[in-house]
Amino acid sequence: MRVMKVRVDTDRCTGHGVCESIRADVFEVGDDGMVHLLNEEFTADMRPQLEEAVAECPTQALRLED
Ligand code: SF4
Repeated sequence: MRVMKVRVDTDRCTGHGVCESIRADVFEVGDDGMVHLLNEEFTADMRPQLEEAVAECPTQALRLED
């Protein structure tokens, strides 16, 4: 099955948690104020919400990688 990955630019993430509010099963803001990924690889059916998280991140810290 085709999978994709999410990359986090840790220099940009400021822990707003917008991504977490979209998919709490994927993104978790830790005590360190940085987002952590709860999964490594994602299937195509999750793409719309992952793209939404990428678009909504206020610091452009997320990107998808095919
Ligand atoms: S929305 Fe962006 S800045 Fe906020 S926690 Fe997620 S990756 Fe970090």
